[in-house]
Amino acid sequence: MIMKQVVVELEEERPKLTLPTLAEVAAKAQAGHAYVTNCGGCGYSSGVPSPRCPRCASANIELREEAASGTIVSFSITYVAGEAFAMYKPYAYVIVELGSRARVSGWVLAEEIDDLAIGKQVRAVAHEGQALNFTLREAA
Ligand SMILES: [Zn+2]
Repeated sequence: MIMKQVVVELEEERPKLTLPTLAEVAAKAQAGHAYVTNCGGCGYSSGVPSPRCPRCASANIELREEAASGTIVSFSITYVAGEAFAMYKPYAYVIVELGSRARVSGWVLAEEIDDLAIGKQVRAVAHEGQALNFTLREAA
């Protein structure tokens, strides 16, 4: 049975990666870096560190840090926010492709949203609320 074979293979390949804490992620972001993972199985780079590859499920994962600056590949702007985020509106959430092609996501706050465009350069300046904070300033 194929399902049983997959389960056995996953059990034999237990993840060894220890993920960074939120405090470590925040400290890296303040220094302009982000944690990314590289898969030794398929080569995929992920900006959402996980003990297993999101593409091939391999546990052969290397954690490293990378400059948290890159290109906006997608964004959305929220003008009408729920109660928990009303104090931030308007705000934007961006998907950013880093140099390794790993993608990370995070916030761009109100004062810069009129300048957002796909293809523009941003850099992380902080990590708050479990997401990076990006700025367009000095990112090109
Ligand atoms: Zn993989």
